[in-house]
Amino acid sequence: MGEVFCFIGERFADLQMLRYQVPCFENLNLRQKKLLYYLGEAALWGRDILWDQNGAYNLRIRRLLESVFVYYPGDRECEEFRGFVTYLKRVWFSNGIHHHYSYDKLEPGFPSSFLHEALTQIPKEYLPLCEGESLDALEKTLFPVIFDPDVMPKRLNQKDGDDLVETSSCNYYGADVTQSEAEEFYARQKRMDGDTRRPVMYGLNSRLEKTEGTLVERVWRCGGMYGSALEHVVEMLEKALPHAENERQKEVIATLVDFYRTGDLETFDRYTIQWVKETEGDVDFVNGFTEVYGDPLGLKASWEGYVNILDNEASDRTRILSDHAQWFEDHSPVDARFRKDVCRGVTARVVEAAILGGDLYPSSAIGINLPNSNWVRAEHGSKSVTIGNLTHAYSQAARGNGFRQEFVVDGETLSMLDRYGEVCDNLHTDLHECLGHGSGRLLPGVDADAMKAYGNTIEEARADLFGLYYMADLKMVELGLLPCMEAYKAHYYSYMMNGLLTQMVRIAPGHVIEEAHMRNRALIAYWTLDHYPRAVRMARKEEKTYVEVLDYEMLRTAFATLLREVQRIKSEGDYEAARLLVEEYGIRIDASLHQEIRDRYQRLDLAPYKGFINPRYTVERDSDGEISDVHIEYGESYTEQMLRYSREYDTKL
Ligand code: ZN
Repeated sequence: MGEVFCFIGERFADLQMLRYQVPCFENLNLRQKKLLYYLGEAALWGRDILWDQNGAYNLRIRRLLESVFVYYPGDRECEEFRGFVTYLKRVWFSNGIHHHYSYDKLEPGFPSSFLHEALTQIPKEYLPLCEGESLDALEKTLFPVIFDPDVMPKRLNQKDGDDLVETSSCNYYGADVTQSEAEEFYARQKRMDGDTRRPVMYGLNSRLEKTEGTLVERVWRCGGMYGSALEHVVEMLEKALPHAENERQKEVIATLVDFYRTGDLETFDRYTIQWVKETEGDVDFVNGFTEVYGDPLGLKASWEGYVNILDNEASDRTRILSDHAQWFEDHSPVDARFRKDVCRGVTARVVEAAILGGDLYPSSAIGINLPNSNWVRAEHGSKSVTIGNLTHAYSQAARGNGFRQEFVVDGETLSMLDRYGEVCDNLHTDLHECLGHGSGRLLPGVDADAMKAYGNTIEEARADLFGLYYMADLKMVELGLLPCMEAYKAHYYSYMMNGLLTQMVRIAPGHVIEEAHMRNRALIAYWTLDHYPRAVRMARKEEKTYVEVLDYEMLRTAFATLLREVQRIKSEGDYEAARLLVEEYGIRIDASLHQEIRDRYQRLDLAPYKGFINPRYTVERDSDGEISDVHIEYGESYTEQMLRYSREYDTKL
């Protein structure tokens, strides 16, 4: 008997650490394992870049805190030290001093006097002092950043009307650069390039600063800003190169190296095009300046890296859906005028993450669709992946945590969810991504942006409803995607429970629903509750509110009816109908129900945010120094891993 793998790591503050398994690693041959190993090293070497992007003092603060953690000679059980450790763990998790999700500055949870006392007891050589700097000067610089809530309060400020560049403390712009200056700078770059149909990603890989009153970009490249980290990334990419699985993959890696050396954004576009076209290899990766959510102007990309392995078996699922895309389009309940004559599904690959780095670590996305350049996507398409081993880790961790026991109406429904919940979740995601978004068409002359601010919610509702409708189709069982005609009921129940009740736990009291996916789920659930009282209702048991599904087949009719309407709205560009639907069902929350759900959730004491501990890869070498085997280990703790990364991937930035 093998050991039982433990998905659950430690819990602190509002965070739960998880572990993920990489079963597909064992299917790789030695050459592929070497490729994966070096790409993994390249993903880890970019860590410090992200820390610096998230805030100018983050790396020094990390070094300071780690020194105290390792060398503090005092009482390590006292309340202050424990508060300090929790703070350090949160800083590690956020890759900086601001919360990874809310972007608010983390509260230290211990007094500055404790840190001062601790620092005086630590040998000077272990402190991150600059040349000639005294401890006193170090504290003067870093203590306000750590302890004063008014200094750098928010990493990313998106409040309309503020100068977003000046009020965001991320490190993408020099301290004296204003929003209008930055906007004008990039508008001018675009004008100078003329009306090109293939614009580069302006500003993607640089910090914008002022030198003697003039705006200049400090480009992130070898020999430039972040050069010391990028040299290491490049070294590992070059070691990966000879083990590439095919010629195109070689080209991808070589062009990426070229981009890191030059910082040239046209080279970056060339690289992403080659990357999109490379679909033959089992091992794939993302490495570079990728997502722009962390920049208030949405131009500058945070560094991220990960490596994945194709899960062939699970990818059959998405391949089957794509191959039958036309059948699904032809049989959908929407008006024939709004259907596509020729429909091509998107093949989303299901992969296993092998290592997570940069902005994907420790908190990670579970689905990734790249590249982000609009014209590259339009002309060359995109690659979409679902990271199956991370979703599996989430669902394993959720087992027995008490959440379903608290909110599901009865034991029968509960065991149905335990049996079919995960297979249904995966399938619904695939239907949504591979078919839902790509289905349907606009009537001629209808503006794709006609829905304006309601566009995202309507589009997500359309994709979700398409998936919901087909989950209950006999075709799912015939294609081998669901085990039986009962399974879909598990998903219908959990979808309604989430939309009507449990997703509210993520909304603060007194607030409304803002995020498009959440609005869409509320819209579908509350519209259905309102229009189909014989299919679903709210039930009260022992002072608690539950969702009760009375008729699953009728629920499907409800979804079909709403899909028909939502597709009509989209196809005709009926803004007013979209507005009414979203405003009526998608936004508002009943205050007393909200309070009840939050109270029940709080009593479960679950961490709202989760992140992952990476596996560790070690190599054996033969007498020539060539790798003769690669091993994977899962035993490392969160703290061990963070300290090791700081030690082994220190880039002296
Ligand atoms: Zn979507």
